Amino acid sequence: MKCAQCGKEFEPAKRRPNQKYCSEQCRGKAHWARKKLLNPHSPKPKKCVYCGKEFEPYRSYQKYCSHKCKDESNYRLNHEKILERAKAYYAEHCEELRAKQKIYYITGKWPKGKLT
Ligand SMILES: [Zn+2]
Ligand SMILES: [Zn+2]
Repeated sequence: MKCAQCGKEFEPAKRRPNQKYCSEQCRGKAHWARKKLLNPHSPKPKKCVYCGKEFEPYRSYQKYCSHKCKDESNYRLNHEKILERAKAYYAEHCEELRAKQKIYYITGKWPKGKLT
């Protein structure tokens, strides 16, 4: 059996006798190529805003080459935001936090609410 996408010889799986492609990747590529044929106005290759790799976006507003890049980028942004917020919070409540920390060390419980 020859792969309809890359032309490589492959053994079709027994449970899928109509298999036309050697791998999921080839299947995906073929699917994408067909889509492109049907829709010649599909988006041009873009550069991933996270890793800089060129990719063919499935949607015009797609900014990342993969879910991984999207997740990592989001994670990083979130992480920075959280850190910034934590820093701001700490700067604002520095004294109170220190006092609470002392109480926490002594009692083993984090005091709730504002200290008076
Ligand atoms: Zn193939
Ligand atoms: Zn990427």
